[in-house]
Amino acid sequence: MVNPKNFAEVLTRQREFFLSGKTKSIDYRIEQLRKLRDLIIENENAIYEALNADFRKSRFETYLSENGYMIMEINEFIKKLKKWAKPERLPSNMLNFPSSSFLMHEPYGLTLIIAPWNYPFQLAMGPLAGAIAAGNCAILKPSELTPATSALMKDLVNDNFDESYIHVIEGDAGVTQSLLAEKFDYIFFTGGIQVGKIIAQAAAKHLTPVTLELGGKSPCIVDGSMSMDLAARRIVWGKFLNNGQTCVAPDYIYVDLKYQEALLNSLKLEIENAFGDNPEESPDLARIVNQKHYNRIKDLIPEGKIYHGGTTNASELYIAPTILQDIDWDDDVMKEEIFGPLLPVLSYKNTEELISTLKRKEKPLALYIFSKRKSFINDILNELSFGGGAINDSVIHYGNPYVPFGGVGQSGYGAYHGKYSFETFSHKKGIVRKSNWLDVPVRYAPYGSKLKWLKKLFKINFEW
Ligand code: NAD
Repeated sequence: MVNPKNFAEVLTRQREFFLSGKTKSIDYRIEQLRKLRDLIIENENAIYEALNADFRKSRFETYLSENGYMIMEINEFIKKLKKWAKPERLPSNMLNFPSSSFLMHEPYGLTLIIAPWNYPFQLAMGPLAGAIAAGNCAILKPSELTPATSALMKDLVNDNFDESYIHVIEGDAGVTQSLLAEKFDYIFFTGGIQVGKIIAQAAAKHLTPVTLELGGKSPCIVDGSMSMDLAARRIVWGKFLNNGQTCVAPDYIYVDLKYQEALLNSLKLEIENAFGDNPEESPDLARIVNQKHYNRIKDLIPEGKIYHGGTTNASELYIAPTILQDIDWDDDVMKEEIFGPLLPVLSYKNTEELISTLKRKEKPLALYIFSKRKSFINDILNELSFGGGAINDSVIHYGNPYVPFGGVGQSGYGAYHGKYSFETFSHKKGIVRKSNWLDVPVRYAPYGSKLKWLKKLFKINFEW
C-alpha cells in the first residue's frame, strides 16, 4: 500500500517541475516521447510476457493493440508535434477592428491518468504520451487487475524518468481515492460508468476538467445487403479480439430478421475458421481477466439460448466464443455491457423499428453498420447518437489516429488519439492582439447617441 503522504510529496515536486517551465519546450517533449518509444521497443519481450501473464494475451494481439499501437501513436506525436504546437491564426471580426487573433495550446500542468485493465498497456501509455506531448507532468495509476503489466509500466517509467516529471503509482480503488483528494489540473479516466461518476464528482471538488472514456453496449447492425461471410468475419474479429474484453467490441448484433439464419451460420463458421473446433486449444484466444469477471460473464449465458459455443473452464478462466440466439431486451445479457465473449443476436423487422428502439437506449461508445445501402447507412448515422464507429467493419476506427476517439452521454465525454490527444491535454488560450494605429471611439463613455453606431457594427458580418 502506497503511503498517501509520499505521493503528496511527488505531486509537490511535480508542481515545482512544471512551474520551472521545462515542459513548455517542444524539443524537451519530443526528447521524452522518443525515450518512451525507445523503451517500448527495447522491452518488447517483457511486454509480451506481462500481457501473457495477466490474461494470456497472444503476441500478435499484444503488438496490434498494445506496444505496436503505442509505437505508431508516439511516432505520430513526434512527427507532428511542432506543427500542432504552433500558435494558430484565427479570424477577427468588425467589433474588434483593427486586430489579429490567435490560439495558443498551453499545458494544463499536473495530470492524473487512471487506466483500466482490458488494454492495460496501451490505455495507460496512450494518455501518458498525450500528456507528455502537450507539455504536462503526469501521475499514472494503472489497473490493479493486471498486476504484471502494472509492475512493468512502473519499472519502465519510474526507473527511466524523473519522478517530478512523470511517475507511476500502483494500487487499487483506495489508492485512486487518495490521489483524487489531491488537486490535479486535468484528469483522464478510462473505465466503467459507475467509477466514471465517482471520478467526475471528485474532480468537481477542485474544478478539475476531466475526460471520461467509458463503455456501454455497442450495437452492430446488419441489414443483409452485403456478404454475410465477410460481415461475420469482421464482426468475429472485433468481438473476440481480447476475448471480448474490449470497450468498443460489438456488444450485440441487431440483424434484419430475414437474414438472421444466414448470419448465425456465417458467425459459427467464422469462429471455427479463426479458433478451430476447440477454441480452448487456440493460442490466439485471451483468457478472462479474473474469477470475478469469469463468474459475471458465465452468469449472463441464458439457458437454452446458445447457438454456438457456451463451454467454460473455471480453472483456466476460459469462456468459449459464444453466439446467443432468440435474445430479447429482457434477457440479463442485454441489461449491462457484456465485456466478454458472448455475442447475442437480436433481430428487427424494419428500419423504423430498429431506429426507434436504439434511439431510446443509452448512447453507446461505438456503433457498427454492415450494409451496402447508402440511405440505410445515412438514416442510422443521422438518427442515432454514439461515440464513433465504422461502416462495414468493427473496432477499426480505434486504430485511425486521425479520427477522434471518445464517448457521448453515458459512454463518456472528451476524445483523444493523434492530434486530439494533444488537444485534450492542452488548454486552448484565445488571444486578440489589438493594433494601435486606429482607436475606434464608439465603445467609450460618454455613450451619448453612439448606440446606433454600435448596432451597425454588430451587423457587419466581416472577418479577416
Ligand atoms: P473500472 O472502472 O473498474 O476501473 C478503472 C480504474 O478505476 C482502475 O484503475 C481502478 O483501479 C479504478 N477504480 C476502480 N474502482 C474505483 C473506485 N471506486 N474509486 C476510484 N477508482 C476506482 O474499469 P475496468 O474494469 O478496469 O475497465 C472496464 C471498463 O472500462 C468497461 O466498462 C469498458 O467499457 C471501459 N473501457 C473504456 C474504454 C474507452 O476507451 N472508452 C477503454 C477500455 C475500457
